[in-house]
Amino acid sequence: ADFKNAGLHPAMLKNVQLAGYEVPTPIQRYCLPAIHLGYDVVGVAQTGSGKTGAYLIPILNKLMGKAKKFAADRPNPATYNPAIDVVFRAEPLVVIVLPTRELAVQVFNEARKFCYRTMLRPCVVYGGGPMRAQEEQLRKGCDVLIGTPGRLAHMIDRPQTLTLRRVRYIVIDEADEMLQDDWKDDLDKIMSGGEQEEGNINYMLFSATFPKGARDLAMTHLAETHVRLR
Ligand code: AMP
Repeated sequence: ADFKNAGLHPAMLKNVQLAGYEVPTPIQRYCLPAIHLGYDVVGVAQTGSGKTGAYLIPILNKLMGKAKKFAADRPNPATYNPAIDVVFRAEPLVVIVLPTRELAVQVFNEARKFCYRTMLRPCVVYGGGPMRAQEEQLRKGCDVLIGTPGRLAHMIDRPQTLTLRRVRYIVIDEADEMLQDDWKDDLDKIMSGGEQEEGNINYMLFSATFPKGARDLAMTHLAETHVRLR
């Protein structure tokens, strides 16, 4: 099987081909249909397995079918009037969490390729970067928010900056790394952040190893879990 007959949205197929992908890797072959069908997914996978595409492609593909609707609902910077609108905050549809700035930027660059010539806009935020500039970036439109746990949790605490009320997908990537570095509270905050208004959020958890902490996180937040052990 190759991407040509994976039933992808034409814009996504084009972007996948532009990225030079022809045949899905094993984890992609597993995740594409599972995520398409709306399952929460645990992927035990190393860097190099193609795990970034395994979640980005099906998630963005699903949203692309509804991109016009999402873009229409999105806060529009063009009609934002600071004299009338008290807040103008980002309302992403996807949140992806990674342990380091380097990984966040890497996934942002992948997301940019897959969002090319679609209405979906990716953004990246990370600790150590200037908060003000990142907030400005978010306000220009942000459908896919990629970031490190501390900065994301901090932004969730600033309701004038970010709300997860429209979020549909939350991806925790390199979960074992983040748990080891003691980001559990921030991960819990991010994973619970969207639950207040809409119940239909899909959660994905990717990890190179699957220690107890990662299992706990999955048990707490994931619903109809598909566990894939390599
Ligand atoms: P990852 O495991 O997500 O870090 O991906 C490792 C590398 O493989 C990245 O450079 C991807 O762009 C590339 N890659 C991922 N999936 C495919 C695929 N289906 N075909 C060719 N290259 C891929």
